[in-house]
Amino acid sequence: MSYRALTRREVLSAAGAGLLYAGSRRLWGQAPGATAADAVIVNAGIYTVEPAAPRAEACAIKAGRFVAVGSDAEVRALIGKGTQVFDAQRMTVVPGFIDCHNHAVGMDVLYETAVGNPFQVEFVTIAGIIDKLRAKARETPPGYWVEGYFFDDTKVKDRRALNVHDLDAVSRDLPVAVHHRGGHTSFYNSKALQLAGINRDTVNPPGGTFDRDADGNLNGRVTDRASAVFDKVGLRPTYTPLQQAERQRAAMAYISEQFVRSGLTSVHHEHFDGPEALRGIEAIRAAGQLKHRVFFAAYGPMLDGLIEAGVQTGLGDEWLRIGGTVEHLVDGSFSERTMALSIPYPGKGGYRGNVTETQEALDAWVLRMCRARVQVNCHANGDVAIAAVLTALERAQRQAPLADARPQITHCTLVNEELVKRIKALGAVPVPFSTYPYYNADKFRFYGEALIRHCMAFRTFIDAGIVAAAGSDFPPGPFAPLMAIQAMVTRKGWNGETWGAEQRISVAEALRINTWNGAYASHEENVKGSIAPGKYADYVVLAEDPHTADPNHIKDIKIVRTVTAGNVVYQA
Ligand SMILES: [Zn+2]
Ligand SMILES: [Zn+2]
Repeated sequence: MSYRALTRREVLSAAGAGLLYAGSRRLWGQAPGATAADAVIVNAGIYTVEPAAPRAEACAIKAGRFVAVGSDAEVRALIGKGTQVFDAQRMTVVPGFIDCHNHAVGMDVLYETAVGNPFQVEFVTIAGIIDKLRAKARETPPGYWVEGYFFDDTKVKDRRALNVHDLDAVSRDLPVAVHHRGGHTSFYNSKALQLAGINRDTVNPPGGTFDRDADGNLNGRVTDRASAVFDKVGLRPTYTPLQQAERQRAAMAYISEQFVRSGLTSVHHEHFDGPEALRGIEAIRAAGQLKHRVFFAAYGPMLDGLIEAGVQTGLGDEWLRIGGTVEHLVDGSFSERTMALSIPYPGKGGYRGNVTETQEALDAWVLRMCRARVQVNCHANGDVAIAAVLTALERAQRQAPLADARPQITHCTLVNEELVKRIKALGAVPVPFSTYPYYNADKFRFYGEALIRHCMAFRTFIDAGIVAAAGSDFPPGPFAPLMAIQAMVTRKGWNGETWGAEQRISVAEALRINTWNGAYASHEENVKGSIAPGKYADYVVLAEDPHTADPNHIKDIKIVRTVTAGNVVYQA
């Protein structure tokens, strides 16, 4: 075995002297006189994600934290009268997984009409989408929107694009929209286009498009900034504050449940409806239903209000902390093929994607966040957008220098050597799509191998010494961390296609990206992200070891148990 066993003396001195170990050297305080552990896990195959002691057989937990990690014999010495003993029967134990970019849209999953599967690869038919929306239309009063969510244009059996005529078949009287799960494109019927005053002569606004068919007629697809006009027309249901609070509470309880089922114990929440979402999280916490830890990103008026109030990133406690900003959009989408490229999209008549922010506005925004000590988080997919973010960060760093700021570049999808150097120099944290190489491999052909080998570039980041973390971007991508690990390790899609094989990383590297690196992204690597004395007792028990399992089936490994702060929050 390769685990580094703590010596018996180390374990006993840690417990007996009332001191806990972090790593192998740093000491942590503990209430004097406390000796026996609350719980121990023995007979396990533990991957600690601690380079100095990567493997262990057993660990002990007290007051929600790990207090010892080592061999069975050493940890058994901490069993007292009230200690719960969990015999893992050689199963694999890893640190709880961390997702650094997730919109946590429990509301959409619970209350909206899904025209695609939010959690895994599933093909639907356009006729099926029309049927679902017709059913919705039948119960929709005049003037109100009929909307479908979680649409994925490459998971359609018909093998053609959804269009305005399909949605006219749903209704000619009600406005109808189908929203792509990627969040940057929607499809509208004629009524919606008419209400928004869009016709074949309408000029595309900056940073968005009203797409046309071969004859120049609107085909119903609308991208990025062009969608804003639809938010101002038609009616949407309203709820009393009490009803809305109850919906948010139920949605958060639901999504927290789903996260821990998949092994996530910490999630960066990025809500565009910030205050309501925060109240929902606070409500489930008060009810004892918050099962995962939340790093809560702020957006819009909420972000302005927090800055005004002097709130900086990190305020909060071990369960709920104010995070950085919600991703500040700089360009379009990878999955919907609107991200800003320095070269034209293959076969798209010179189209290079959408830049959704001017450099000047971006510079000012980044500087304002840095001055307010709010961790910057920008969405940038294409190389053009990533360069713009780096320019803004470099300028802000000169004007308002901040040590160890760890600005987040969400997605950071298409990189090149120069961008990687600048990311490294700034200490920025890229958070590329974690599950896309599996889930969205069917979209890689739109870019081609020459580009894809520089996309979701985990190998490149590791080799450059850059700490990159995992971001599912749910709902654009499924959030299951084991799907992410399989994707990073194999670069093979659900369809069997392998793209950008140069970017493959080892299971151990992928495990670190999905755990310790996630903790680093929120400046919490001293309290979570690995199994080490002093850290939160957040871990996952897996039925099979992903290091030795068939790499093409890592996503199917059963999550046996998920634990946060020493409490079992999911049990298979
Ligand atoms: Zn994004
Ligand atoms: Zn996102």
